[in-house]
Amino acid sequence: MKVEKLTILIPVYNEQECLEMLYQRLVNVADKLEEVETEFLFVNDGSRDDSLQIIKRLQRSDKRVALLDLSRNFGKEVAMTAGIDYATGDALVIIDADLQDPPELIGEMLKGIEDGYDDVYAKRSNRKGETWMKKSTSKLYYRMLKKISDIPVQEDTGDYRMFSKRAIDALRRLKENERNMKGLFSFIGFKKKPIYYERDPRIAGKTKWNYWKLVNLAAQGFMSTSKVPLRLISIMGIFVSLIAFLYLIFVVVRAAIWGDPVSGYPSMVSIILFLGGGQMLALGIIGEYLGIVFSETKKRPIYYVNEYSTGDVAEAGND
Ligand code: UDP
Ligand code: MG
Repeated sequence: MKVEKLTILIPVYNEQECLEMLYQRLVNVADKLEEVETEFLFVNDGSRDDSLQIIKRLQRSDKRVALLDLSRNFGKEVAMTAGIDYATGDALVIIDADLQDPPELIGEMLKGIEDGYDDVYAKRSNRKGETWMKKSTSKLYYRMLKKISDIPVQEDTGDYRMFSKRAIDALRRLKENERNMKGLFSFIGFKKKPIYYERDPRIAGKTKWNYWKLVNLAAQGFMSTSKVPLRLISIMGIFVSLIAFLYLIFVVVRAAIWGDPVSGYPSMVSIILFLGGGQMLALGIIGEYLGIVFSETKKRPIYYVNEYSTGDVAEAGND
């Protein structure tokens, strides 16, 4: 499949230190792609620093730069969604603004798309500059997600990936509010191909993630791709009732044979506490799913756009 135009989608949230350098690297890569038109689509996700001004400045000197300015900070998942909706290319690659994803892979990814793949994803073979804790928790998470979800998930894969036209169209049709993009990328299926690379440390600025945000994203990942947690509750319920039933028989038989002196107060308290805790957990999990239903039924738009401009328009406006 011949690609005519490639959109490079960059979600941006407070990345003023990175943008110039990123732009330079992207230009180098784009200039090498002969016969393919490129678009640099910067999605400004409510940055509070000078990111927006920098993007606008880049746009004045380079027609390839497009700007999608969201009305506030919606988070990376939504920023990517908005970018996918506004992309004009017939292939699209998502890349972080902090240069942790080396743009030099784009050529190879594009080749994969032209060879007929729909989703060429960059798979990390190591992660420099990330803490041991983050690496091992992320590994554990992927392993669990893989076990419990109904659709295959790509392990050790971020959002650095390139999509074909039909994969882009498939993604545009997913309108759910509780978005976990990795889950959606897997959900659409089609022909996928990994490319291995070493993830670099962030060149400047600070990561926007903290553990709380990661825990939220992880929970959302589980719940939006799988009904297994709900099933686990039922299984646990059956298991506990079975044990309770056996114990009941035991208690009745024992009372019938040896009589029933009052004893076992501590064991009763611990059983009640155990069951109480289990019930709370179960209610919590059900509540989480209910929460997803709640936010989906509101059918709110996923994002709002403050301003959208392509390089052409910006140039016309400035002359
Ligand atoms: N990002 C965003 N909105 C947010 C948080 C992050 O668009 O609310 C962008 C950010 O600008 C960067 C990418 O998502 O381009 C990845 O963010 P970051 O490097 O902080 O995440 P990490 O690499 O640490 O997982
Ligand atoms: Mg990063």
